[in-house]
Amino acid sequence: MTALDSTDLFLTALTAFSHPPRPIPRPLELSLPPIPSTFPHSKLIPRTRFAVDAFRYAGDYSVSYFLSHFHSDHYGGLSPNWSQGLVFCSPTTARLLTDVLNVSSLFVVPLPLGQPLLIDGCEVVLIDANHCPGAVQFLFKVPASNGDFQRYVHTGDFRFSAPMKLDPFLCNFVGSDAVFLDTTYCNPKFVFPSQEESVDYISSLIERVGGEHEVSVKSVLFLVATYVIGKEKILIEIARRCKRKVYVDARKMAVLRVLGYGDSGVFTEDECESDVHVVGWNVLGETWPYFRPNFVKMEEIMVERGYSRVVGFVPTGWTYEVKRNKFSVRSKDAFEIHLVPYSEHSSYDELREYVRFLKPRRVIPTVGSDVEKIDSKHASKMQKHFAGLIINR
Ligand SMILES: [Zn+2]
Repeated sequence: MTALDSTDLFLTALTAFSHPPRPIPRPLELSLPPIPSTFPHSKLIPRTRFAVDAFRYAGDYSVSYFLSHFHSDHYGGLSPNWSQGLVFCSPTTARLLTDVLNVSSLFVVPLPLGQPLLIDGCEVVLIDANHCPGAVQFLFKVPASNGDFQRYVHTGDFRFSAPMKLDPFLCNFVGSDAVFLDTTYCNPKFVFPSQEESVDYISSLIERVGGEHEVSVKSVLFLVATYVIGKEKILIEIARRCKRKVYVDARKMAVLRVLGYGDSGVFTEDECESDVHVVGWNVLGETWPYFRPNFVKMEEIMVERGYSRVVGFVPTGWTYEVKRNKFSVRSKDAFEIHLVPYSEHSSYDELREYVRFLKPRRVIPTVGSDVEKIDSKHASKMQKHFAGLIINR
């Protein structure tokens, strides 16, 4: 098994990063100060100096940082000037960090998925998180006293899917000491359709209303709102099922190239080649806390691009509209907007199913107000949802 030493790797990176390069004294072991008691416990793997998605809290007490995926609420604190420690992540996330965020590649350590390796004496495995491209869950096996070890799962952001139960690495973590869980939707009110149902809804509508795409005829323009990364599966399925390319601007294309979609034939930067156009997240309207459509902007785009009608799709996560109507529609004159619940986080039932499968001793919520604090009221309220599923030994 490959063995990595954070301190050693970090000192090498730091030496090369300094201008001009200068040798940095190498004590056999860096004597790091203790981790402060204020460090968010939902981001720290016990008995290690491994900090997960905690770049805002970086300090001289750790050089081993882990990044679960490339969403700003997780990589916040990283910048082109970052030099406080190593960043362990998936190969896709590593490319996004260096090519999009311009973090120095000296500090970025891409780790392959499904391949155990030793970092500072702990066994670490990355497995897919079914979230955005490159998103992973981390599995940590930490040596304990008497030759035993403790096991921790950190899900990052994730959407549970049934095949996870068959993952041989995850199966080895049944009965873990704790699971650090993406509790974005940890409440029974969070119910939403499967991703397939949502994609089906969008593709069928484009097929029905748009017919076959002809370059010479411009009638209905379809707009799909997206973030910088995430929910690419929707676009790929539209292209496949509706037999047309998807138009994106140069900035989005640059990110898609980093993700490996450059030569997929799915995307085009030529506006005339497609009637399905990707737009930025808030272009069709503000989504939170309630959806407020922006028909003025839609009209601008319609006129500018020479169409006579616009159908927009906003693939939201869960929204307040979901409980009344799975796919709610807003319309005005030549414009309609479909709010499609498409989630890359687990629903309440999926969270329960995951915990029922893993049977951990503890669930540590990672998302919610003040979950960073050890005595968080919100966290203990969420933990009650799993009370019957954890194993007290
Ligand atoms: Zn995320």
